[in-house]
Amino acid sequence: MVTSRTATDQASPPWTAADGAALYGLDRWGEPYFSVGARGQVMVQPRGERGGALDLVELVRGLQGRDLSLPLLIRFDDILEDRLERLHAAFERAIAQYGYGGRYQGVFPVKCNQQRHVVEQLVESGRRWHFGLEAGSKAELLIALSLLDDPEALLICNGYKDRRYIETAILARRLGRRPVVVIEQADEVERIITASQDLGAAPYIGIRAKLASRSTGRWGSSVGERAKFGLSIPDLLATVEALRSAGLLDDLRLLHFHVGSQINDIAVLKDALQEAGQIYVELTRLGAPMGYLDVGGGLGIDYDGSRTASAASTNYSLQNYANDVVATVRECCEPGGVPVPTLVSESGRAIASHFSVLVFDVLGAGALPGAEPAATEAEALILRNLRDTLRGIRALPAGGDSAEPGDDDGDGRIPERLQEAWNDALKFKDDALAAFRLGYLSLPERAKAEQLTWACCQAIAARLEGMPEGTPIPEELRALPAALAGTYYANLSVFRSAPDTWAIDQLFPVLPIHRLDERPIRLGSFADLTCDSDGKIARFIDRGQPKPLLELHPLRDGEPYWIGLFLGGAYQEVMGNLHNLFGSTNAAHIRLSDGGGYRVEHVVRGDTNAEVLKAMEHDPALLQERLRVASEAAIARGDLAIADARRLMAHLRASLEQTTYLQG
Ligand SMILES: *Cc1c(COP(=O)(O)O)cnc(C)c1O
Repeated sequence: MVTSRTATDQASPPWTAADGAALYGLDRWGEPYFSVGARGQVMVQPRGERGGALDLVELVRGLQGRDLSLPLLIRFDDILEDRLERLHAAFERAIAQYGYGGRYQGVFPVKCNQQRHVVEQLVESGRRWHFGLEAGSKAELLIALSLLDDPEALLICNGYKDRRYIETAILARRLGRRPVVVIEQADEVERIITASQDLGAAPYIGIRAKLASRSTGRWGSSVGERAKFGLSIPDLLATVEALRSAGLLDDLRLLHFHVGSQINDIAVLKDALQEAGQIYVELTRLGAPMGYLDVGGGLGIDYDGSRTASAASTNYSLQNYANDVVATVRECCEPGGVPVPTLVSESGRAIASHFSVLVFDVLGAGALPGAEPAATEAEALILRNLRDTLRGIRALPAGGDSAEPGDDDGDGRIPERLQEAWNDALKFKDDALAAFRLGYLSLPERAKAEQLTWACCQAIAARLEGMPEGTPIPEELRALPAALAGTYYANLSVFRSAPDTWAIDQLFPVLPIHRLDERPIRLGSFADLTCDSDGKIARFIDRGQPKPLLELHPLRDGEPYWIGLFLGGAYQEVMGNLHNLFGSTNAAHIRLSDGGGYRVEHVVRGDTNAEVLKAMEHDPALLQERLRVASEAAIARGDLAIADARRLMAHLRASLEQTTYLQG
């Protein structure tokens, strides 16, 4: 691991909490909810600029005190509400600015986060705007039906639909809800028509158009002629005629499209909007009453704070998005004298990403054996050579006190000499391995050779850090700090809590939630608890390309090191799986109190070992019984003391009741 506690450290200015915020990008992606406090801890402003802040470290301590062990998912319901407010405020501003004669009425796509408390909170907070829900399956439809009781809020029914799904939606309209069944596949038309005839009632009907406009990025295949969902233009026209002959054209109210999640480039959205806007106008000309244009999801999140069209970012703001939707739709409708529609969006990621923070602890850090071993008398020649090399590196003149650049002894020559030293060290290390294979070097001697090689590597890396900006450094030497990087063992399962980092290389901001006022002098990546080499976090946000290693702090004895994974409130929980039987983590819903401080509104306990075993059809009682029988047999053989058998059974019982993660 890199330790840069060298003479050069004194030369660099002291590290402050602001440096920490800049390094981890908190001041770019964190706005306005996350910032750094004076003591180097992450602060959470759950209501954005409207005031009130919580110290995340104290909050975690407080939750631990309530017996909620790490890893811990902290959900800030105020943030969820604030996101909703921002979304509506952005559309309201755009509508005012462009003199748009309609309104905005959004829905939350339930698939983004189906947790009951989350959906309930959104329905509650969204009531004042008649904010609705979008369902993509029968189970999600059941959630939406039971939670959404506002007769004006939209219940958009997407996804594949069988007869029962359609009939449920039709009957929901009778219940006083506002379900819109969106035709996504050509064959759904017939099912809707027969169901409506049988029940003598129809749902509100929507059509999802398959746009020709191309998208880019990860979800680019959601549009285009080969997209999984949506009607091609010929199918769309045939559907209109089928509805007309069935007497259902009057129920056709909505046009829907979805360009894919996380639209990085606003130009993609504009193209799609223009195309959809024209289709909307044509549908009204064909005699459908219409009234709603649903622009789908895709409103993106700036995960790396770069404000670019790269995968982890967006080249537009929420306000830009709302402006483009409003302005483009108006431009499409006005020339033909078609009344502008109520605008609907199904923004999931944009609403649900910020509100949850995953905090996990580091169990330990693996480091290379770089401590310099004490010299003994009459050491093998290879070891003496390595020691000479190490001495040579350390004897090089320190940066800053060299003569003119270009001078033979100045900084210009130092990278070259470091490279020579590194070549020597590698050569001696190879020699040591060859000698060991032939039996000339003992195991302890081989260990020393490895330690000395890594000590050379550390000395070189430390020396390089002190070089003036712009000094040309050979490629191989530049790679040394990475070679020295450590593995931080994380008390979490990536597959459970951040599956998209593994499945689709998604980037989330990851950083220590404390010690930000302390220079992070190590480089590392995270390995999770699973026995899977993919169970790691080894891509981190940076200003440009993602980086493979994160600046981290050395662990301190007896002190926890807490890491936060941010912006993961959308999709991660439900996509997470039981790999290695790591279950859900503890979760807590937090509300800012008016008088300062916070309230714990809900606690959702993580899965216990017994629960994950049952999910795989194992019976915890049977499992205990089998081990009891085995213990009795061992006691009878005299292999196990009764007290130890009791201890074993006690461990078993306790484990079954605990969460699946390591306990402090
Ligand atoms: C997934 C999905 C959404 C949500 O997309 P976000 O990018 O999370 O806003 C909206 N509509 C449909 C049809 C979807 O499939």
